[in-house]
Amino acid sequence: MAYRKIHPASFHLSFVFAIVLSFYSPAYAQDSTAVEKHGQLRIQGNKMVDKNGIPVILRGMCLYWSQWKGQFYNSECVDWLINDWNCNIVRASMAVGSGGYLTNPSVEKAKVKAVVDACISLGIYVIIDWHDDKAQNYLSQSITFFEGMARDYGNVPNIIYEIYNEPTNVQWPTVKTYADSVITHIRAIDQNNLIVVGTPSWSQDVDVAANSPLSYTNIAYSLHFYAASHKQLYRNKATTALNKGIALFVTEFGTCESSGTGILDSTETTTWLNFLEQNKISWCNWSIADLTETSAALNPGASGTGGWANSVLKPSGLFIRQKIRIGNSSVATSVGSSTESPIKFGLNQNYPNPFNPTTMISFQLPMMSKVKLTVYDVLGREKATLVDEVESAGVHKVEWNASALSSGVYFYALQAGNSVDVKKLMVLK
Ligand code: CA
Repeated sequence: MAYRKIHPASFHLSFVFAIVLSFYSPAYAQDSTAVEKHGQLRIQGNKMVDKNGIPVILRGMCLYWSQWKGQFYNSECVDWLINDWNCNIVRASMAVGSGGYLTNPSVEKAKVKAVVDACISLGIYVIIDWHDDKAQNYLSQSITFFEGMARDYGNVPNIIYEIYNEPTNVQWPTVKTYADSVITHIRAIDQNNLIVVGTPSWSQDVDVAANSPLSYTNIAYSLHFYAASHKQLYRNKATTALNKGIALFVTEFGTCESSGTGILDSTETTTWLNFLEQNKISWCNWSIADLTETSAALNPGASGTGGWANSVLKPSGLFIRQKIRIGNSSVATSVGSSTESPIKFGLNQNYPNPFNPTTMISFQLPMMSKVKLTVYDVLGREKATLVDEVESAGVHKVEWNASALSSGVYFYALQAGNSVDVKKLMVLK
């Protein structure tokens, strides 16, 4: 993709400084891990807050059913989800029925523990999900399992217990009775880590649960949606629940229809993610699996240990990876709060827009930074890299010729150190 740098020509930096920058300014450099930064999570009102009492949004991925896609339950996969996807949470979705824990308890538990151990060692949060839709039928097994998890991990802030994935064909009082029992056993060992409880109708009836919440502290309720099937009506249910004072956690959602297949509805997914941002609700996307179904992030045959090139990612994976990478970067906070520089980090709207075939993109940097300016399509696929180098402080302009791209909406993202900004543009031919 052709581009021409117009301004400035003035950057002089020593070779040594360039080397130092290359070490200290990777695109998603973190001063500390997510768990070092946020520590022990708790529920305050209808929000999840961190150790400093500040609402926190975690964004990450669900692993697929453990009995079917156990090849992703390992530290290399978790490492990749952290370092390439920028996930600060992973959900280990331990199958219960369908050949899962009820059939092979030690095998399935070992898969979960491999993921939990990796998340603890690498400093992110992890959801231990009892992935079942009839959990009240296996109460004693659930208690045994969660007591074991609480004994092994209740003393670290990383873990979140999810005791019932998606209650189906069951009323809230039944779910509540089950939850009450499991929570009592967890709390006898671990007094404070978050416990997430599923809600009736595949974890959609959060408004029903809000009418009669559990009486324990640090409880959140699952809200699940599949964006092409579940729209404003379900956001309204969430708003009702929040207004009644319970905290919600989107432990699972899909970009497509509720079957896991059908169209990838990026528009509705974006509307949902904006809603979650506004309400400070954390989320995990379904799922890390190498399947043909729309919700799967990876093409069939993808490695179980990460290292996925963009060509290995399916549209949903590309789209969500970009949402996680941008959402979990500390957007302009480190730079934006600085009062020492008269110039703030920023990416400006391109001009003209819409355009054909050339447009001008400008951005400003408060300090010399390693900069990457990338154009993506609406599915999150990289279409062009306009800048990828160290730039000086000040205003920069890039002229871009998009003649190779077809008409449509695209996103352009600027990464500089820990700061990221994204804007939309339109090619109109
Ligand atoms: Ca604890």
